[in-house]
Amino acid sequence: MTDYDTRHLRIKRTRGLAAEQVCADCGNQANEWSQIHGTDGEDVMHYVPRCYSCHKVYDQTNVGRRLSSQTIEKLRAANIGRKHTPETIEKIRVGNRAFKARQQ
Ligand SMILES: [Zn+2]
Repeated sequence: MTDYDTRHLRIKRTRGLAAEQVCADCGNQANEWSQIHGTDGEDVMHYVPRCYSCHKVYDQTNVGRRLSSQTIEKLRAANIGRKHTPETIEKIRVGNRAFKARQQ
């Protein structure tokens, strides 16, 4: 297990600030990286950007909105055995944007 700070630093390095992203749930500006339930949080793809209130709701409900298992599988597949090249990071950005667009 990697400690919390190290993990969050890693996310920031590869995926940028959550504040530069849009909340996966409500489409407002995100504030924090929110760990996807059911993941161990060791991978930067185990997180989605969320605003404070959606993050709280997500973590409290635990059965609320979740990424579908299909989506999680896709995230995993996209990430297996790879170091994040600048191209990959850009792909993640584009993917995040497309995901947000669908939420609005
Ligand atoms: Zn939100």
